[in-house]
Amino acid sequence: MTDLPGRRLLLVHAHPDDESINNGATMARYAAEGAGVTLVTCTLGEEGEVIPPELAHLAPDREDRLGDHRVGELAAAMKELGVADHRFLGGPGRYRDSGMMGVEQNHRPGAFWNTDVDDAAVHLVEIVRSVRPQVLVTYDPDGGYGHPDHIQTHRVAMRAAELAADPAYRPDLGPAHEIAKIYWNRVPRPVAEAAFGRLRAEDPGFPGFPGIAEVDDIPGVVDEALITTVIDGAGYAERKAAAMRAHATQIAVEGPYFALSNNLGQPLFTTEYYELVRGRSGASAGERETDLFAGVAGVAGVEGVQGVAGVEGGEDVEDVQGAER
Ligand SMILES: [Zn+2]
Repeated sequence: MTDLPGRRLLLVHAHPDDESINNGATMARYAAEGAGVTLVTCTLGEEGEVIPPELAHLAPDREDRLGDHRVGELAAAMKELGVADHRFLGGPGRYRDSGMMGVEQNHRPGAFWNTDVDDAAVHLVEIVRSVRPQVLVTYDPDGGYGHPDHIQTHRVAMRAAELAADPAYRPDLGPAHEIAKIYWNRVPRPVAEAAFGRLRAEDPGFPGFPGIAEVDDIPGVVDEALITTVIDGAGYAERKAAAMRAHATQIAVEGPYFALSNNLGQPLFTTEYYELVRGRSGASAGERETDLFAGVAGVAGVEGVQGVAGVEGGEDVEDVQGAER
């Protein structure tokens, strides 16, 4: 474990593109700061709709080659964010996109929604015990907006965190590791409302989307009071937009807005919001954290001095070298 960077962030997502939309600025920031950033994507997003007409032949009801294509899009997006460690749960194609809730694809063999949570969690336990993240980011129990793969991703991520920490569980997968902090992706309702207000106030014809989405189309919108952590990603806005653009079959980016295949414009958030659901906040009472690693033992909040070996006496000794840029 001596070659691990001092700060290690694990993100678990359902489909290629979810990471860039939800956490693109956060991922770019921590990667640029020299933290370890690991993305695990649970499916290839085979059931997605295809935006560019010239790629429509990839769709599941035609050639059904969208999954392979999206592997390439994800790799291109990770290049934009500076993230080298991205993996698919159980290997590429192990779990298939289940489609939206209620469609027949939910029940097809191999669909992620159809998978036993503990069986899928094994693959993630193995990654957790090797990467040894202090921070995990995933969705809330509703998956942010009720998509079966997002709900299943939540279940698998939370279960894997529990199993990885249990020394009695599958010792062959590596020494037990407890993730210090777990976050769910969030967007505060007032922020979403204000951003949609700005979008609606734009000149007609800009940003060129035939319609505008609704606040409730945005995954993870919650009351402001639930937000514990705010990551200012303004310095990484370009990288986030570029990563989203790399998912060209799924996302059309226009300035500070974007649309999914429904062609409805929505704001592209470069400040990203989180709810801390496991572990202790590193912020003072009544304040919000501005760093996902705030308060994590052995990891100082100031850049360049994180990862001081063994200061907190934990068994999970940090490597000072690995934390340097
Ligand atoms: Zn998704």
